[in-house]
Amino acid sequence: MPVRPLRATLCLAGSELVRGERRDRNGAWMAARLEAAGARVGAWFVAPDDEPALAETLRAAAGGADLLVVSGGLGPTADDRTREALARATGQALSEHPEAWAQVAAALAARGRPADPAQRRQALLPAGARPLPNPVGVAPGVALAWGATQVFLLPGVPAELEAMFEAEVLAWLRARGGAPPAATASLGLVGLIETEVEAALADLAAREGVSVGYYPHAGEVEVRLRADGAGAAARLARAEAAARAALGAHVYGPPPAGRIEAAVVALLRERGLTVATAESLTAGAVAARIAGVPGASRVLRGGVVAYATALKCDLLGVDPALIARHGVVSEPVARAMAAGVLARTGAGSAVATTGVAGPDPLCEPDRPPVPVGRVCVAAGRAGGAPEARTLTLAGDRAGVRERSVVAALDLLRRVLGAPA
Ligand code: ATP
Ligand code: MG
Repeated sequence: MPVRPLRATLCLAGSELVRGERRDRNGAWMAARLEAAGARVGAWFVAPDDEPALAETLRAAAGGADLLVVSGGLGPTADDRTREALARATGQALSEHPEAWAQVAAALAARGRPADPAQRRQALLPAGARPLPNPVGVAPGVALAWGATQVFLLPGVPAELEAMFEAEVLAWLRARGGAPPAATASLGLVGLIETEVEAALADLAAREGVSVGYYPHAGEVEVRLRADGAGAAARLARAEAAARAALGAHVYGPPPAGRIEAAVVALLRERGLTVATAESLTAGAVAARIAGVPGASRVLRGGVVAYATALKCDLLGVDPALIARHGVVSEPVARAMAAGVLARTGAGSAVATTGVAGPDPLCEPDRPPVPVGRVCVAAGRAGGAPEARTLTLAGDRAGVRERSVVAALDLLRRVLGAPA
């Protein structure tokens, strides 16, 4: 009989988290590790440091879960209520645990501090609970079997939580055994919007029994495929191959940490080419994205930020007559910028951007205004004619600029002849 995956829930305790005064750092960190270890994370709860409210949340979070991990609220001050909330939720009395107090006293002694009675709260545990050593801080963690749910209380300080999560929660999971992690794959693509991607993958999910998630991000869409249960790896492999076939050249690969620019750098290295950028509205952001990829120094020659129209002529050799004829936001000008930077840097390939980020349209003398979001990108190889595209991009100034960077990198990728 196949092993049922372990169901886990998380509870993040902290009024500062509930109110948005502090950004959570523990939830995603724990969830990713639990999933990688074969558990299935069903939900996260975020609750204030308020005993009745936290107790109620713990009851809800434990319901139906095999494992509940709680972060925060184990310190010595009166606003740390997690031990009390667990005692209230489970109906257990709270009393000082000698081993927990020994841990607190030892941690204080190691810091040259006396065993102050104000620190005794940290040694209070619900009946039946076991203290967990804290190798980084003072507050012990707490482990308690609550019906069918194994509960771990861990400190909220991320460094403490991380150390204790590895030592206690993951060790518990490993000892218990269980199902393997779900099989997952992801594809990054540019050039389709999420509904078009969904239409292209219409019957995939049902056919292979995989779940499909669509995650748009500034001009890119990440598609995540996930298969669970018997034959998961084989079903996932078939689904991924079918998705790649259906989405064709729009796919740039699995989205690496650096997204599309990592695919561009890999392709440049494969082709033995360097690249230079000629940037107007992106003002160096295309070059900066490429430079963010480890190994970029082997392929990035540099770039020219030619924001003012005159500099497009002075630094990139764009013919003023071309600008007068077509306007500065035009495919001929984008191509001329790419050709200009190729000639001036000796790079093997180039990419150029010109467009209107807003908030105001561009008004040139004797020309109709160019609307916000109109962007021309061009890319080419040395010795060839650059290709250009005109885009109509939505969003505010920052959004238009970010999407322009993605569009420029995507055109460069296509020009370099990336296999899908
Ligand atoms: P301590 O013994 O330090 O009091 P604790 O277990 O009581 O630890 P908290 O008092 O809840 O933890 O939080 C300690 C510090 O860690 C605070 O600065 C808090 O804002 C921060 N913290 C708590 N939970 C999180 C979280 N989920 N993400 C990021 N920071 C957190
Ligand atoms: Mg707290």
